[in-house]
Amino acid sequence: MEKYDRKGDAIAIYMSDKEQMANRYVMHCYGVTMVVYTICIVLNLLGVFIVDKRIMITGYIPSVIVFAALFIATKFVSLSNPKLKYFILLGTIFLSTIAGATATYHTVLLPILPFLYATIYSSKRVMTVVYVLSVVSTVIIVYGGYYYGLCDANMTLLTTGSIDNYVVDGQFTLTTVNENPALTLFLYFVLPRCIIYIAFMSVCNSIFKIVNGSLEKARLTEELEKAKNEAESANRAKSQFLARMSHEIRTPINAIMGMNEMILRESGEKNVKDYAADVKDSSVLLLGIINDILDSSKLEAGMMELEPVEYEVGSAINDLYNMINLKAKEKGLDLIFDIDKDMPSGLYGDDKRIKQILINLLTNAVKYTEKGSVTLKISCKTEGENALLHFSVSDTGIGIRAEDIVAMQEEFRRVDSERNRNVEGTGLGMSIVQRLLALMDSELKISSEYEKGSEFSFDIVQKIINRKPAGDFRNKNFRTSGEKVYRADYTAPDAKILAVDDSEMNLKVFKALLKDTKINIVTAGGGRECIETLRKENGFDIIFLDHMMPDIDGVETLKVIKRDGLCKGVPVIMLTANAIEGNREMYISEGFDDFLSKPIVPKNLDKMVKKYLSDNLIRAVETEETAIETPDEEEDAMTILREKLPEIDFDKGLGSCCGDEDFYLEIFTDFVNIEIDEELSGYLNENNLKDYCVRVHGFKNNAYTIGAKALGDLAYELEKLSRAGSADEIPQLQEQLFRDFYRICEIFNETV
Ligand code: ADP
Repeated sequence: MEKYDRKGDAIAIYMSDKEQMANRYVMHCYGVTMVVYTICIVLNLLGVFIVDKRIMITGYIPSVIVFAALFIATKFVSLSNPKLKYFILLGTIFLSTIAGATATYHTVLLPILPFLYATIYSSKRVMTVVYVLSVVSTVIIVYGGYYYGLCDANMTLLTTGSIDNYVVDGQFTLTTVNENPALTLFLYFVLPRCIIYIAFMSVCNSIFKIVNGSLEKARLTEELEKAKNEAESANRAKSQFLARMSHEIRTPINAIMGMNEMILRESGEKNVKDYAADVKDSSVLLLGIINDILDSSKLEAGMMELEPVEYEVGSAINDLYNMINLKAKEKGLDLIFDIDKDMPSGLYGDDKRIKQILINLLTNAVKYTEKGSVTLKISCKTEGENALLHFSVSDTGIGIRAEDIVAMQEEFRRVDSERNRNVEGTGLGMSIVQRLLALMDSELKISSEYEKGSEFSFDIVQKIINRKPAGDFRNKNFRTSGEKVYRADYTAPDAKILAVDDSEMNLKVFKALLKDTKINIVTAGGGRECIETLRKENGFDIIFLDHMMPDIDGVETLKVIKRDGLCKGVPVIMLTANAIEGNREMYISEGFDDFLSKPIVPKNLDKMVKKYLSDNLIRAVETEETAIETPDEEEDAMTILREKLPEIDFDKGLGSCCGDEDFYLEIFTDFVNIEIDEELSGYLNENNLKDYCVRVHGFKNNAYTIGAKALGDLAYELEKLSRAGSADEIPQLQEQLFRDFYRICEIFNETV
């Protein structure tokens, strides 16, 4: 079926329904017309046998043939092509006029069919034109026939002369047929024609009605469509606003949580500690809600992108188990993980989002179950390159009423509210789960028995990376302590990488992270140095380019090296701290091959390097993840620092250094030696906010690298202020940044 591009799809669908209706209507009208016509034929036949057989040949038979031809044509030819439709329509009117004027006036009926088609699918204007044309055609037929004496001249009677004088077809008078000429005329000539005309008029009338109705409906549908589009765009704007807001709200919440953590650790007063513990609980909850709103609005605004990576099934399930088991234990529930032991151990997909779906379902299962168990079952079938995973989360909880199952999937909708009055929740979880699954081309199936329990299941296809079976999870000791340290599982001594960053400390970290791989790493401290290095030296396998640098930024540097052909065939990866999701496209469109966010996560760096190094450079080695060793009682520098600087996440910092304590202390020393105050104050005095922004951005990354999250967040605030040109608000915040930074420096220098 052809679509009408002028209107939306909805209208096209609506019109195609109309088309079917119109076809039925045309056939119906055609049927009625044929019955009327047949009655007329019978009546006329009686007259013809008595009057003249020639009328049969010149009048009815050609009409019947043309009617039949049109019937067949309308059945088999699609008239939804507008050009063809108008051609047939005008052609039929033209031919029927000629035929009517020269052979038989019965053809006045012929335009009915095209007329119907034209009117059903066209505008009112076209309909009027066709109507006028049909009337003109009828007048020409009737009077043309009369004037030229070519066809049925009976009409003379209706205009001139008297009954007695009337000679049928110029051959015989009516009285030859019957003694009563008026009766003959009425029965055999006037009555059939009257019936034909009445039928014609009534068909036209009905057409007018149906077309008016359908055009009105089409107009309404169009208006509805417009209103729907407007509502959708308003909704999108709302979602984008929510997404932006939630993103902004997260930063101060993080600061609140950080400060609160300090109160918790430093305060000696029990009361204060209790309050701080409450603040902690509430802020964790608040952050959860904000994250849900952020995800939900991102999903709704179509801003959420899946980020497929290679991941290990084992560690993903471990994390999940540890997280949910705590909650299940608190409620005295059994958490059962029934995982297919033949499942491949390495898969490719967005593990973060799959985990998010399962966390939502498992947390709900725990939340809405008072006693019994919560079970996660994963079964797996392999099909070529792919693993077909079936997930099911079931519980022995309160269950959901059949009539509530649809409602509970709506955004912000909570069901069975009386029973769940005391259960915390926003009603966003289910809609997030569904939208995420839709992104993964899957859907959630829910079955539940009220007061007995529920089961939520879905299927996902993931690419297999490592076919080695994941093993039996039931007997496995799930690791619960210590942040895991990643060790590269390959070396590439013949590979050469260029790393470009304005921060000495970042380059040091970069080199240290790839130390085990034995890759030859060349560094450059800025865009200009990078260009010079590439002019002098070649044979690089990958270039990592920082984004914000004081001399020439990463994007500009890439432009120059591409223009000068300095990086032909070498993948260039952007190193950025602006890892706002959805930016991938932006970097790719700038010409980068990929991007890696800072502070660098060792595992991600290794994956990226492996992805872009050619296979012949890589040699596999056996490794195992080890937990960071946290000395218990030892009074070493790290232990003291941990105590004195509770605002620093040492495990995170150590994680960025592959768990190497000495190296961590080395970069920490570099960090405390950064002379940020003079530089920043200088830029501020000169009102040079551009360089201020670049500098403070670099400092932020350094702070995040050593695990000083709160300090990094402060620097981030300053970065945003300087970018927005709000110089007035900078001094106060800058003061705080210096204070916090000096405090860290002082304690570090005292201790180490
Ligand atoms: P909430 O934040 O309220 O838990 P969700 O969107 O996750 O929101 O769930 C929507 C509603 O579906 C819940 O309020 C609850 O009534 C119902 N529900 C979800 N999971 C379960 C479950 N496992 N058992 C019973 N009811 C459930």
